Amino acid sequence: MTAPLNIAIVGSGIAGLAATWLLGRSHKVTLFERHARPGMGAFNVALDAGGKAMRIDVPLRVFKSGYYDNLMALYRAAGVQMQPTDHAASFSTPAGDTYFRYRNLVLAGRSIPLVTDWRRHARTITREVLRFLRQAPRDRAAGRTQGLSLGDYLQRHRYDAAFVDGMLLPSLAAVCTCSYEGVRRYPADTLIDFFTSGSLTQCTWRARHGSEDAIARLLAPCDELVCEAHIKTVLVDGDGVHLTNEHGPSRRFDHVVIAAQANQAAALVESPDAEAADWLRQVPYEGSEVVVHRDARLVPTSARTSPVHFSVDPAAAAPMANIRLNHIVPELADEAALYQTWNPLTEPAADQVLGRARFERPLVTLGSQSAMAALVARQTASPTRLWFCGSYLMPGIPLLESAAQSALHVAKQLGVPAPWAAA
Ligand SMILES: Cc1cc2nc3c(=O)[nH]c(=O)nc-3n(C[C@H](O)[C@H](O)[C@H](O)COP(=O)(O)OP(=O)(O)OC[C@H]3O[C@@H](n4cnc5c(N)ncnc54)[C@H](O)[C@@H]3O)c2cc1C
Repeated sequence: MTAPLNIAIVGSGIAGLAATWLLGRSHKVTLFERHARPGMGAFNVALDAGGKAMRIDVPLRVFKSGYYDNLMALYRAAGVQMQPTDHAASFSTPAGDTYFRYRNLVLAGRSIPLVTDWRRHARTITREVLRFLRQAPRDRAAGRTQGLSLGDYLQRHRYDAAFVDGMLLPSLAAVCTCSYEGVRRYPADTLIDFFTSGSLTQCTWRARHGSEDAIARLLAPCDELVCEAHIKTVLVDGDGVHLTNEHGPSRRFDHVVIAAQANQAAALVESPDAEAADWLRQVPYEGSEVVVHRDARLVPTSARTSPVHFSVDPAAAAPMANIRLNHIVPELADEAALYQTWNPLTEPAADQVLGRARFERPLVTLGSQSAMAALVARQTASPTRLWFCGSYLMPGIPLLESAAQSALHVAKQLGVPAPWAAA
């Protein structure tokens, strides 16, 4: 047995936390976070629910069986309880006309969407969803989608605008937290894999006790958590890797895992690793806002029974997505209506707002995909003491699963295999 390494991890989003849990069982891990709380829960909102204090996840993060195998295995191994949740959706125009709506029938771990209103748009959307689910995986398997963006693919096959603009792009914009244009630029393969991996038929899950509980469990093997520590410089020499933040003297580690976003990581490693910084800068980002509020006016009356509601304005850059938290979080079931709205196209009344946060989300393009593949290949073939880890790095949409996969990759390279058969 080799002596434990002294490892620093910069960033405590899910990637840094997953790396902490994996590496911390064999090595000494120090985790740095620039926020006052672990990054995965840094924007959570405190709330009184029926006299009980709780913190609501901002953003609410859910996952699907079929696409999130490593995240779910990690949660099981770390003791994070999970529960199925209903993410059935409805779609309305800005004037409040609900043109497509489905509810979910949950049977034996499967979730079967049932369209509940068969007006003209709903028939077209359903027909085109079925065509996409049939055609896209076939084209993908035959290599006919390679090198195409989703926008190119949809245009090539002339999918109906009712499906593309009315349902597919709004749904994917919410999943990818980006504009319609951002979704169109995604590699077709990446979004076909997501959409056809059971995104419509597998159960949606959440961490039963929210992200605060998941964070505590993933931190269990962490030797030292240092919050309000904004790492400013990374220096690599023959002796190890030296980190400094604005508060103290530099600290030396055997290895450093940079689990910050690609744009933040690029700024940090410019001097010790210009090649990696060049690749990292090829990941584009889009910013947007999430608001937690009680203003029911943002959802038309006809859609208020849906757990998730999309307001789709063709003139806007992205849809507004409202999640009715009372449907999702059991502790809120009997409480006053509480919403989490991504991209508020209509402002909730100021006295109804409980919290708001701005996020930046990486996009995937054909160019960023090649750059990240090059970085991962170099990290595998010619490892150094400096490691990169994050949802943006692995193939697929940057989600909790790709962050878990990225942490697994780094841990394996540092001699710590996953305690499960990694997918
Ligand atoms: C609105 C929204 C909804 C989402 N919903 C879902 C969902 O339902 N399901 C899902 O799977 N995914 C969802 N995601 C995506 C998911 O949240 C991200 O994929 C995931 O958080 C990325 O994790 P990460 O650890 O790679 O990066 P981050 O969470 O961004 O963590 C990076 C951390 O590094 C810290 N940091 C950066 N620089 C420094 C520095 N110099 N020094 C110290 N600390 C530093 C940051 O403060 C941050 O805490 C959603 C994202 C958004 C924005």
